[in-house]
Amino acid sequence: MTTKPATEKVFQGIGVSPGVAHGTIYVYKIADEVVPEYEITQEQVPQETDRFEAALVATRQQLHDLQERIAAGVGSATPSSILDVHLSITEDPSLLEPVMTRLNEEKKNVEFIFNSVAQKYIQTLADMPDEYLRERAMDVRDVTDRVLRCLLGRQVRSLTNLPPGTIIVAHDLSPSDTSSLDRKNVVGFATDVGSHTSHTAIVARSMNIPAVVGLRDASQHVHDGQVVILDGFSGSLVIEPNQQTQFVYGQLAVKRHSVDERLAELRELPAETLDGHRLALAGNIELPEDMPALVAAGAEGVGLFRTEFLYLTRRDFPSENEQYEKYAAVARAAHPHAVIIRTLDIGGDKFRPDDQPAEVNPFLGFRAIRYCLANPDIFRTQLRAILRASADGAVKIMYPMISGVGEVRQANEILQDVMADLRRQGIAFNADIDVGAMMEIPSAAMTAEMIAQEVDFFSIGSNDLVQYTLAVDRVNERVANLYDPTHPAVLRLMRNCVEAAHNNNIWCGICGEMAGEPLYAPLLIGMGLDELSCASASLPRVKEVIRRLNLSEAQELAAATLNATDSREVLAMLNALLQRIDPDLTG
Ligand code: PEP
Ligand code: MG
Repeated sequence: MTTKPATEKVFQGIGVSPGVAHGTIYVYKIADEVVPEYEITQEQVPQETDRFEAALVATRQQLHDLQERIAAGVGSATPSSILDVHLSITEDPSLLEPVMTRLNEEKKNVEFIFNSVAQKYIQTLADMPDEYLRERAMDVRDVTDRVLRCLLGRQVRSLTNLPPGTIIVAHDLSPSDTSSLDRKNVVGFATDVGSHTSHTAIVARSMNIPAVVGLRDASQHVHDGQVVILDGFSGSLVIEPNQQTQFVYGQLAVKRHSVDERLAELRELPAETLDGHRLALAGNIELPEDMPALVAAGAEGVGLFRTEFLYLTRRDFPSENEQYEKYAAVARAAHPHAVIIRTLDIGGDKFRPDDQPAEVNPFLGFRAIRYCLANPDIFRTQLRAILRASADGAVKIMYPMISGVGEVRQANEILQDVMADLRRQGIAFNADIDVGAMMEIPSAAMTAEMIAQEVDFFSIGSNDLVQYTLAVDRVNERVANLYDPTHPAVLRLMRNCVEAAHNNNIWCGICGEMAGEPLYAPLLIGMGLDELSCASASLPRVKEVIRRLNLSEAQELAAATLNATDSREVLAMLNALLQRIDPDLTG
């Protein structure tokens, strides 16, 4: 019997999370959220009523199907009891009756009327003091989305209910998509847009799964169910690989597996140079679910917990208790090491579902500490939750997007006030909690001496520091060639931060993506950074470099790179050193 050979097709993008995944494609299409609004005649009212009823029936059918799949053990992130609640919402008179009344009165298309009734209902629930009712707002929203998709004939694509071995191919994945996806069964991501420091890349590295971004229009040329190899090292996405490609990848997998096995042996060993200089090598997480991979990789605690991912999948804000439980769970999982909890860094390329950017330049806009200082209730709730978790484990606080000492003082005043409240209420917390500032804006790096007097540590956010220093949007692939972490200006600002920290007897770490690149590790060590924090996927490789290096040679290298006038010179030095230390880690 002869089988027809599959036609292989290769798309080339940027490999942003190491590893090779073999799996089956699931094309994720984001539904267009715009709900049309138009007038109808009196004669069209019955027709609109019929469309609405048909959409409700279809929604109920979808919910029943989902319940059956759960009962059959196919699994879903949504428990069956929640689907019961969703089913009851499709029959709720307080939602359905106003739709019929307004349809007759206003004579507009039914999706517009339904959406406006539902949004009002959601808002009323979201404003309720009772937590149970507030949570129902989420359920009504989910049902509303389903009904609207049925009315508009849009495909329902979910990321929460996927078969094992799924490789998601999408134009883009928003932070709310990645926070809600089925982590068990997804083995890789591929997106048309994005860069090394975009959130999709960051999340893939934290989940320890391979990813490729910047594939231009690949998502339009593939379909569900195709067999694929995703190479997170080289950035290739190979559709329907032929036998020869499979053989080549098989050979590579054997080689990489032996490198991984060699690196896995470093797990329990300290991040220490050959001449005995000890560094802290911590990990970055986006969600508590990232902790097992981090612990397995041998991280010494969490150097960056990007807490905004707890806020991105929902329309309401997580309560103090919910946050406390998550922070305390992470602190327990990290024990005996510490967890640096970064306060909410929303904005830039991370938005809540209803807060899409109304700004022309969101990275220069209402983001991170600016948002928190302008929304003290949201900020105070988070600080209370973090402080409470500081009674359960070693927890530190870090403020993002600090542009100068004034913001640190303002944030610290609020922190002191929150501490005073907790004391009055007899709630336990660590009053000596360490507070740090992210150094990711040039104005902060240039005034690091002043900021160092107000905090206990610095952590360099190189992803933003590079973007703001060089005026290169970190997520825009059109200027990705200008995004240059070894530019002399960036290196000088980083050196400023380290020197200011050490002059003031505080430590300085780095938690941007630079910290996870084996290539940069010798430079960072030589510059005097005390802690490197990176995603679990990158950690063993970085530890390997640290352990094969002398501090003295790293310091010589750092001095030489700081004299270089052009980043190509710097990269040549770094490449030569890595090639000598461990050629398996190059490329
Ligand atoms: C950074 O900017 O380097 C950083 C670690 O923060 P984020 O990537 O979340 O902006
Ligand atoms: Mg940042």
